[in-house]
Amino acid sequence: MESTETTPKRQKTGGEGPFKVEWEWMYFFVCRESVAKCLVCGAEVKCIRKSSIERHFNRQHKDAYENLTGEERLEKLQELKGRNLQEITISNEEVFLSFLLYNVFPSP
Ligand SMILES: [Zn+2]
Repeated sequence: MESTETTPKRQKTGGEGPFKVEWEWMYFFVCRESVAKCLVCGAEVKCIRKSSIERHFNRQHKDAYENLTGEERLEKLQELKGRNLQEITISNEEVFLSFLLYNVFPSP
């Protein structure tokens, strides 16, 4: 028996992209039911775009959080998640892995 694995691609109109795991530690946002939520202030961004999320972070929280680097950033993310979320859509392992990947192999 051969398994035919198909990767279903969800096509959405409106220019929304899938939530990127690394945005969790980059911008302290998590995705719940196609809404991106700011872990710092609870603001919700319905349009899941990097530009929207990045803009919110830069305007509201950059001063307080931009100096967190490396593990400090991950620790803060875990702290914020614990405070805010009952259900977490993306596993911590996945976030941690993306964090490592970005720091070992930074994207251009
Ligand atoms: Zn916020």
